[in-house]
Amino acid sequence: MKANTTLDSIKTYEAGKPIELVVREFGIEPSAVVKLASNENPIGTNPSVSKAIAANAHKAHLYPDDSMFELKAALAEKYGVKSTEVIIGAGSDQVLEFISRAYLNEETSVLMSQVTFAMYEIYAKQVGATIVRTPSYQHKVDEFLAAYEEHKPKVVYICTPNNPTGDAISRDDVIRIIESVDSETLVVVDGAYMEYAAAKDEIYRITPQDIMGYPNAIFLGTFSKAYGLGGMRVGYGIANEEIIHTLFKLRPPFNITTLSLLAAIEALKDEQFVDDSVALHQEQIKRYEEFAVQHGFEYIDSYTNFITYLFGEKYNSTKISDELLRKGVIIRNLASYGMNAVRITIGTGKQNDRFFEAFLEVIE
Ligand SMILES: *Cc1c(COP(=O)(O)O)cnc(C)c1O
Repeated sequence: MKANTTLDSIKTYEAGKPIELVVREFGIEPSAVVKLASNENPIGTNPSVSKAIAANAHKAHLYPDDSMFELKAALAEKYGVKSTEVIIGAGSDQVLEFISRAYLNEETSVLMSQVTFAMYEIYAKQVGATIVRTPSYQHKVDEFLAAYEEHKPKVVYICTPNNPTGDAISRDDVIRIIESVDSETLVVVDGAYMEYAAAKDEIYRITPQDIMGYPNAIFLGTFSKAYGLGGMRVGYGIANEEIIHTLFKLRPPFNITTLSLLAAIEALKDEQFVDDSVALHQEQIKRYEEFAVQHGFEYIDSYTNFITYLFGEKYNSTKISDELLRKGVIIRNLASYGMNAVRITIGTGKQNDRFFEAFLEVIE
């Protein structure tokens, strides 16, 4: 049966492989599988959040507060904005989908870096928009401005720090892009890993405040990474009321669950958990940098909770990822992005020990 032709060129999103698959296919004990493929928080769920989820499990029959009053108020307070400037999504992914449906169509194009979050392209293609990419995998401000002048895209995606490469673009450069484009072009600042970038270097810290003064910019954040709630599916967009009001027209009712809503509210009460998560990450990522140097291949300096290893002529990323998988270590092969590279989420000390051990076995 024929579907809309706009869908013909869409490759379905390839998610990080689940632990269950490795258990099924290779007969490895679930406890022996190390998943470093989806940029989840390796510490796990904040205990105060899991307690709140458990204590409210009996409320699963109730729809959530559709206004999401408490969560929006907490985010508004954290960022110094108004509740009416916040929209909640089932992951920031859902906000990305709203953006596509609100601003793109077959007559428009979108601009993004050569290698970036796969969903930008998928959501854009769903509505028939044309994809334009800068030449480099890194976000380079001059490339963005040149491509903007040439193609006049309706939406520009700035993924900072960038997934799956880990590079970032400074606040000043983001502002320069916003100020250089026409007010009818929306600049999306996807800050899914902002907590990590901001902790590493202040010049990369971008807050919703930084973009609020512009009529054509939106900041996206998520609870899936540093907040450790990937499985609860909560993200948000912050922009001026006109944009938020537009996006609300596309929102299905009750778009996150009762338990997700309270988990996110609870998570915002404990910033210490986020700080501890970032601190563990900063300590452990050094081991990955040293490991690359020791074994003679390159890595991309990372502003995220993962590191991207560039194998060059040295190893084949597909072979390495497949063999690690057989040993119960799940990482992300970037061959489908046209890179002979792998992306590894930084785990706990123990998980990282297991990665290094398995990697050494594979290259021997
Ligand atoms: C993980 C991620 C998101 C959003 O994830 P959700 O779980 O849908 O909130 C958005 N952008 C990038 C670049 C990501 O890596």
